[in-house]
Amino acid sequence: MAKRDYYETLGISKGASADEIKKAYRKKAKELHPDRNTDNPEAEAQFKEAGEAYEVLKDDDKKAAYDRYGHAAFEGGMGGGGGRPGGGQGDFSSAFSDVFDDLFGDFMGGQRGGGRQRASRGADLRYNLGITLEEAYTGLQKTIAVPTSVACEGCNGTGSDDGSEPTTCPTCAGMGKVRAQQGFFTVERTCPTCSGLGQIIKDPCKLCGGQGRVHKDRSLAVNIPAGVETGTRIRLAGEGEAGMRGGPTGDLYIFIEVAAHKIFEREDVNLYCRVPVSMASAALGGDIEVPTIDGGRSRVKIPSGSQSGRQMRLRSKGMPALRGGGAGDMFIELAVETPVNLTSKQKELLKEFEALSEDNNPESSSFFSSVKGFWDSMKG
Ligand SMILES: [Zn+2]
Ligand SMILES: [Zn+2]
Repeated sequence: MAKRDYYETLGISKGASADEIKKAYRKKAKELHPDRNTDNPEAEAQFKEAGEAYEVLKDDDKKAAYDRYGHAAFEGGMGGGGGRPGGGQGDFSSAFSDVFDDLFGDFMGGQRGGGRQRASRGADLRYNLGITLEEAYTGLQKTIAVPTSVACEGCNGTGSDDGSEPTTCPTCAGMGKVRAQQGFFTVERTCPTCSGLGQIIKDPCKLCGGQGRVHKDRSLAVNIPAGVETGTRIRLAGEGEAGMRGGPTGDLYIFIEVAAHKIFEREDVNLYCRVPVSMASAALGGDIEVPTIDGGRSRVKIPSGSQSGRQMRLRSKGMPALRGGGAGDMFIELAVETPVNLTSKQKELLKEFEALSEDNNPESSSFFSSVKGFWDSMKG
């Protein structure tokens, strides 16, 4: 492929002024920058082509030679023309970098002018707190030890031994990043001197090494409201990690986990409790006493003839709602227990009872009549 005309490459006419050439190149370079054209494989070659054109046209001597002889003026010296425009890169990487300085000034926008934020916000912390269902019911105050960073007392969080203000990092000139030239490409890295903060402290505090904060276990009294459940998150604003060099403090999040209970099962604000009753009590009916989550007891009347699985509701004996709106209910589910380990006397009485039974087991009667009908239909 024939090498494109340098003026054409930059989209300008032969009579363009130095200023117009520079402007045209900056525009092209931005347009074609590989970072902005990751999906256009041709951009990189065009980007290099534009760079090569600019390298020649910005230089009065080279421009004059090019105007006179065209590409032939640089044949040999720049790696033989069209094939590999990058062939002569050693020659003009220095020319490139001063344009890059301009470009990066633009790309970075306000960052350079305003300077970097010297203080950074502390991290948010998570604390997992396991509690019992009873504690979730009443709410509680708990003192927890939070491993965290706090503002250093030696320097009041400034990081500086004598209280002097941090100064602009000389390595990165306050940008927090440094650029390194790798062939045609400029790579950016976090500044090793200031770790990206853009500022350094001349005389760092000996207690915190210039960080402005130190690690410490902090004990904190936390109010856990009644009604919390597993997954409830409590945010304590400003109780997280201290910021760097006086930056704002992060938040502390307490994640609640309520342990499973031996007696009660919870579903939202309602509690469920399975209560075994004897066969005779279920048949005859009567009062039973059931536990409640507040530690008390409630008397519950069991109707005669209650079956297993029968539910009864105790209003407002459930969990309190976290955001108001009253308490949930408690549900009792009966589990009728068949007696075991019968004495001969008991067996005798039960046999006698069975012999006297007539309409005492409506469910069984209805089941067996269905079964009989099924068998009859199968006989066809
Ligand atoms: Zn730096
Ligand atoms: Zn300090």
